[in-house]
Amino acid sequence: MYNCGCGNEIHPERYALGYKVCLKCGDKSALKQKPYGSIIYDHKTAGSIQITNKATFDLYKKNILQIRKEK
Ligand SMILES: [Zn+2]
Repeated sequence: MYNCGCGNEIHPERYALGYKVCLKCGDKSALKQKPYGSIIYDHKTAGSIQITNKATFDLYKKNILQIRKEK
């Protein structure tokens, strides 16, 4: 029996494939690597989509909410 850092058991077949984390932690990690995007209105005729990672997206979202509060 193999245990993940979170305490959950890692399925033996999963471990045999080389995964060192449980399914739940693997999902969390995959979600962090998923691409995120936001619309940037950098020109009056059309916006563009900025593809980014979760950390940058969260920072963008936090800043937008801050700007909306100030208005
Ligand atoms: Zn885990």
